[in-house]
Amino acid sequence: MYLYETHLHTLPTSKCARASVRENLEFYKSLGYKGVFITNHFIDGNISVDRRLPYEDKINYFFEGCEEGKALAKEIGLDVFEGIESSYQGIDFLVYGLSKEWFLAHPEIESLKKSEELRLFMESGALVIQAHPFRGSDYIDHIQLFPKVIHGVEIYNANRTDFENRQAEIFCENYGLIPFAGSDNHAGAAQLHLGGMAFDTPLKDEQDFVARILDSKGEIFKIVRE
Ligand SMILES: [Zn+2]
Ligand SMILES: [Zn+2]
Repeated sequence: MYLYETHLHTLPTSKCARASVRENLEFYKSLGYKGVFITNHFIDGNISVDRRLPYEDKINYFFEGCEEGKALAKEIGLDVFEGIESSYQGIDFLVYGLSKEWFLAHPEIESLKKSEELRLFMESGALVIQAHPFRGSDYIDHIQLFPKVIHGVEIYNANRTDFENRQAEIFCENYGLIPFAGSDNHAGAAQLHLGGMAFDTPLKDEQDFVARILDSKGEIFKIVRE
């Protein structure tokens, strides 16, 4: 099977990340992964960009991390794909399959309700996953679920508790959504618990990933490093 990290934060794009793009790629290469999706906090989340800048500047800044990864892919020998982690009141969504050009052409997303924005992503061909839906934290006022405007649920997030992941799994099963897994790695090579999606043949690009997940062709895997 070919292993892919689906939920990864890198410096400097994600304010809360602690490892560079290069360090992350070398780490996943050393573990035998085939590829990674760089999913930094988007312009509505914990991104290290001035929120008052024009939309276009923020989008260009966001994609610099993915572009850096794609430029290093060949040298390191790891396939690099892009995604975003979009936020709303401490609730997060992993979105795959939309390009920088798509976002540059859709500045209206900044003024949409979250559910309208997610619906637009889906109608535009994206895969939308609610990340760690049962995460408890001081900065999260209450749990919010969006079953009508997501395709799937992160039922295994390597940085959440077994209880939170189990609740996510029950939510996913009861609504007939697609089960999904990722590490939410902010720490590079210091990350001991990992999770992701595996496939029997290598992924071609982001669209291929979206199509295979929607077709239930991905398999969840978990790794615990000593
Ligand atoms: Zn973060
Ligand atoms: Zn994340």
